[in-house]
Amino acid sequence: MNFVCSNCGCTRLEEIMINVTLSSEIASVGEGGDIDYMHYMPYGEYATAGEVDRYQCVNCGAHVKDANGETITDCDELYTRLQELDRE
Ligand SMILES: [Zn+2]
Repeated sequence: MNFVCSNCGCTRLEEIMINVTLSSEIASVGEGGDIDYMHYMPYGEYATAGEVDRYQCVNCGAHVKDANGETITDCDELYTRLQELDRE
């Protein structure tokens, strides 16, 4: 399913998560506490747990909402909603 923002027409969708624990392997700690990471991936594969707070447009931040205007927080709902929007 492709996302198209109803607000700005952007097709890039992002997932916003809350209560996420991130871990990053440290390569070295330099002078003054400058840390070099093995992998610099701020939203990468080391995220564990957490929950989806919302899905939103990358460009304008508009939340994806269901037919009742409630912000969608579940990937199944997201899929269903994108199908609905595609038919409109
Ligand atoms: Zn948008």
